[in-house]
Amino acid sequence: MATYKAPRGTHDIYGKMALGLEKLDSISRQIFKKHNFKEVITPIFEEASLFTRSIGEATDIVEKEMYVFEDRKGRKLALRPEGTASLVRAYIEHRFDMTEPIGKFFYSGEMFRYERPQAGRYRQFSQMGAEYLANPNPNADAEIILVAKEILSALNIKDIKIHLNSLGCAGCRAEFRKKLVDYFSSVSDLCEDCKRRLEKNPLRLLDCKIDSSKFQNVPSMKECLCGECSDHFSQVQTLLKSVGCDYIVDDKLVRGLDYYTRTVFEVRSSSVGSQDALCAGGRYDNLVKELGGQQIPSVGFALGCERVLMACEQNGFFETVKTDDVVFIAVADEDLFPQAFTFANELMLNNNNIRKNIELSENITIEGPFLNKSLKSQFKLADKLGAKKTVVFGRNEFNNGKIIIKDMTVQEQKEISLPDFIMERIKNLDTSGFKMSAYAEK
Ligand code: ATP
Ligand code: MG
Repeated sequence: MATYKAPRGTHDIYGKMALGLEKLDSISRQIFKKHNFKEVITPIFEEASLFTRSIGEATDIVEKEMYVFEDRKGRKLALRPEGTASLVRAYIEHRFDMTEPIGKFFYSGEMFRYERPQAGRYRQFSQMGAEYLANPNPNADAEIILVAKEILSALNIKDIKIHLNSLGCAGCRAEFRKKLVDYFSSVSDLCEDCKRRLEKNPLRLLDCKIDSSKFQNVPSMKECLCGECSDHFSQVQTLLKSVGCDYIVDDKLVRGLDYYTRTVFEVRSSSVGSQDALCAGGRYDNLVKELGGQQIPSVGFALGCERVLMACEQNGFFETVKTDDVVFIAVADEDLFPQAFTFANELMLNNNNIRKNIELSENITIEGPFLNKSLKSQFKLADKLGAKKTVVFGRNEFNNGKIIIKDMTVQEQKEISLPDFIMERIKNLDTSGFKMSAYAEK
């Protein structure tokens, strides 16, 4: 029979990666909340034109990476390739500008791009992002960069470099565009994409994965920044310096989406191979208006969860992720199974009374009891699970109102009395409908 595999470019997340993702999620949520960013959960698909309009027609994402489909009513939809456009759509749709005194939001979820799969590049991947809307000032840019840095530092990723640039406003860009067209027109053997984009969007050429290494002495955006954009850029840098945040001014950084204005940045790590951008973002002063809202200058970032987890692995972070202690419930006499089952359920319900009684910590993982297993194989299983304690239900002890607690780390066991209230519950259980013979170990 044919076997199934996850579709090309997708991957299952399990084991320590799943634990790492949970950790990344909880750490970043804490940091977002501390900075007063509020969560917005948007749909996984949107009208395709939302992305074409915002990301730009002449970008890789729109030209060749979007998963576009028609629904049964012929609506043209797309699986979201990124989160900012959706968040801005929600902001306009729900008039957050009227209801939210501060426009700080975050999101987390799966994104879809039809890219060539390789390490750190998938067709379905996860991003966490923060967006600071309605603040035109450099402190918003600085805070966004610092939030990204704070998340990566909290995950112990040490080898990061922040690349920073300014793309200026429409005015600066017009001048830069002219210089770029002049420059690129003299470069021979441009790739097909670049030849085509030279007309539509020459800035994109700087981001070309094929040609960018051929470009020597490319004109720099710096020379084209107007006074206001130049001031904004230096203010962002002053604020970053004031909190001791290192960065590299990188005038080749243009980013792959068209909506950026002024500040753009990328956080790279040397530990994850060639796909080294863990996180990227920038200012988008015209996007809200472009999508039908007011003129609301904004700035944000998106962090690629898979790449961040790769960096976590390289930096030894997973070794520090703690899991809860496992408590294993075993039965020495199978006719006590319903009692053990009831006991396990009481533990699950977080019964502090019992936990205190058997010296268990607050956060525990509870496993068992199992039918049709000898006591020996139950202990073997408890060992495999790394159980800290095993609770054993045996007939003699139970008749005296007791259970055995075995400390698996020191291999010592003691008997403890079950609290009266639970003894009352399980002592008189009617177990007549539970025929043990059906579960004899085969
Ligand atoms: P890159 O230059 O690496 O393609 P990008 O410019 O497409 O990145 P953004 O769209 O700004 O990046 O996405 C932000 C982050 O999301 C990236 O820095 C990266 O960590 C992650 N990311 C982007 N595309 C993918 C992908 N196909 N698979 C996994 N992670 C991705
Ligand atoms: Mg890309």
